[in-house]
Amino acid sequence: MSSTSTPTGKKTVLNTLLETDHYESLIKELTCTKCKRYMKPPIHLCVDGHSTCGPCFEKSYQCHVCKKEYSTIRPTTLESLANKVLFPCTNLGCPKHATLPILEKHSPHCQFRIINCFMARVYGDCKWEGRAGEWMDHCFQEHKTKVTELPFITVKDKWDAKRTEPVLNYFLLRCYEKVFNVYQIYDKRGGRMMWTVLVNDEHAEKFYFEVDIFLPNLPSKRIVYRRPCKCEKDADFLEHTQNVYIPVENVFSMLDETESANFTVRIGEVENLPMLDTPSNSESLILLHNEQLHKETEEQHE
Ligand SMILES: [Zn+2]
Ligand SMILES: [Zn+2]
Ligand SMILES: [Zn+2]
Ligand SMILES: [Zn+2]
Repeated sequence: MSSTSTPTGKKTVLNTLLETDHYESLIKELTCTKCKRYMKPPIHLCVDGHSTCGPCFEKSYQCHVCKKEYSTIRPTTLESLANKVLFPCTNLGCPKHATLPILEKHSPHCQFRIINCFMARVYGDCKWEGRAGEWMDHCFQEHKTKVTELPFITVKDKWDAKRTEPVLNYFLLRCYEKVFNVYQIYDKRGGRMMWTVLVNDEHAEKFYFEVDIFLPNLPSKRIVYRRPCKCEKDADFLEHTQNVYIPVENVFSMLDETESANFTVRIGEVENLPMLDTPSNSESLILLHNEQLHKETEEQHE
């Protein structure tokens, strides 16, 4: 990219330009006067020349300014400007300027967007509203038992048969310079308990998670599962073969004397996991069905 070779002076000039009233007025020209959103081509005109964004045009048969009909002429200059201009992110305080397609990708992840505390959706006891970038700090202050900076969290959760919400637990683990979202979901109808871990990273599969259900006083009984972490964008992030799904009766069989489930969720980096070699014959290796497999492949080749 040329930005690395660009002298910082040039960048300052650009930043200054983006903050001028002149630039602001240009952006205003490219903002729909009806819905106040940036106009993404196709832009439409009325017979008097007022412009309207595509979605507003679709919803109405006349111009919202002069009430006259729409023209079939398209404002090509305005459209080509809309394709080139760097629009400011609409979230208060955000310094991001980008073309519309890039801004559309930025917005759902903008650290300046106003959000509600997600803990409230699961535990229903928080009224916090604020910038996405400040949410983690809020969680560390107000939801201390649900967040950690360690790559694992150990939970003792009393089983409550009356719970109706499918998401039983939600935890945040800030480690490996990322934030991991741990969900424990009770699929009552399917008779299963599920754990899934989502991380906002294009390469979520670089990380794995382990669910380790144990009985504190009975080391001979333990259930351990390992699965890859998922990204919210992954289409299969709730796919059962990709997550930890355990029949509830197995989970119930692991309740301790206080009727609590004890489990640890651990996050790790896949590159640090050992590859598992097939043991050699001397290590008591038995190959079953091998002869038959050979036969089958031979038959296929014929
Ligand atoms: Zn509009
Ligand atoms: Zn008009
Ligand atoms: Zn932003
Ligand atoms: Zn909260």
